[in-house]
Amino acid sequence: MKKLQNIYKSKYIIIGAGIGGLSLALALQKLNKKVLIFEKAPEVKEVGAGVMLTPNATRSLDYLGVLKEIEKDATLPKRTVVRHYKTGQEMSTTDLGNGFTKRYGHPYYDVHRVNIHSSLYNSVKRNDPDCIKVNHELIDFDQSENVVTAKFKNNLVAEGDFLIGCDGIHSLVRKIIKASDNPHYTGNLAWRGLMPIESLPFHQRGPEITIWIGPKKHVVEYTVKSGKIKNYVAISNVKDWHEEGWTVRSSVHQALTEFNDWHEDVRNIISATPHNECYKWGLFDRNPLSSWSENRVTILGDAAHPMLPFMAQGAAMSIEDAVVLSRCFLQYEYPKEIFESYEAERIERTAWCQLQSREAGQLFQKISSREDLDSDRAQRGRILYEYDAPRVKV
Ligand SMILES: Cc1cc2nc3c(=O)[nH]c(=O)nc-3n(C[C@H](O)[C@H](O)[C@H](O)COP(=O)(O)OP(=O)(O)OC[C@H]3O[C@@H](n4cnc5c(N)ncnc54)[C@H](O)[C@@H]3O)c2cc1C
Repeated sequence: MKKLQNIYKSKYIIIGAGIGGLSLALALQKLNKKVLIFEKAPEVKEVGAGVMLTPNATRSLDYLGVLKEIEKDATLPKRTVVRHYKTGQEMSTTDLGNGFTKRYGHPYYDVHRVNIHSSLYNSVKRNDPDCIKVNHELIDFDQSENVVTAKFKNNLVAEGDFLIGCDGIHSLVRKIIKASDNPHYTGNLAWRGLMPIESLPFHQRGPEITIWIGPKKHVVEYTVKSGKIKNYVAISNVKDWHEEGWTVRSSVHQALTEFNDWHEDVRNIISATPHNECYKWGLFDRNPLSSWSENRVTILGDAAHPMLPFMAQGAAMSIEDAVVLSRCFLQYEYPKEIFESYEAERIERTAWCQLQSREAGQLFQKISSREDLDSDRAQRGRILYEYDAPRVKV
């Protein structure tokens, strides 16, 4: 057996360079803390898809100093419209333009995931060019009273005071510190794709978020890249599915067959997906956890609270976690008090989000009444959007 070498030393060991891990690194660097991030992939990159950034997310990204960069390529949607799947009739609308920005102090943006990811990545690298170690897959860790030791597949090790698992939905760190909890398939399969806006009729090119709702299916579409690209996710009930991942290829024909009796505008969008860029994605769900930490180790983002995409809050919650956890590190000295204050501030909110995301899915997969749609959006909106991660008490 090869001897393990003791190579890296860093107070903060971050596992995973996704949106969560990079946000945490940047938040800690902002407080003059040195970090190391270990990423299993050979290069740091993101999947091509859109993300809606609600004001709670843009507020934290502003605090991290990357919002200006992200907004260069963002779309500011004018409104969200919920439409009937067959007739196209407007069933509920929410204004999202300048009035909305004024109310919450920060905008609602639709962006390409790569833009968020690269803005975070570039800022982290600017602060410390050597802090991201790719090709480092965590395989295990040990912790004693004073130190945590991470072990990587390439036989290298890292020692630190704290290890934070930002290693996504299949988190190994979560598995090691918490009893393993098996995800269950929700019966929802999502098709997703991106296309140049010119491939759609003129009336479908505007800066709106449209949610098409119908029996057991719904479709969300909006533009990213300053309105140049249309992004959609089309979700349907499909009985059997075993793979949990975002990048399984599908055929446009299969997606169209699923939505063949839907409004022409929906079929236009699916048909316009470039043939090698139609993906399907089985939606799996897990129950909220009641604690996230063990001694010197904790988890963050999808590792801690994977959620269904129906409220568009997965990335937002990861970024909020990062800001709050960095502030707990600043405020407290010992692992117990740091992680207790992190969990006290974050578990209730993210568990609520996990459960509400389930409910939102149900509301969109039937012909809900205007009253139900309006009150749902208003109530959820306030709780979500007003949250101020840079200023909440920790
Ligand atoms: C198509 C799609 C649309 C979405 N839309 C929205 C939206 O509109 N709004 C929103 O807020 N959220 C959205 N989300 C959810 C959001 O993108 C995720 O919640 C968010 O990216 C989670 O970030 P993360 O850093 O926790 O995990 P990830 O992005 O999964 O990053 C985990 C990282 O850890 C690395 N890793 C894993 N295991 C190891 C290991 N053992 N060792 C080292 N590295 C490891 C991985 O390679 C990866 O780089 C969407 C998700 C998808 C797929």
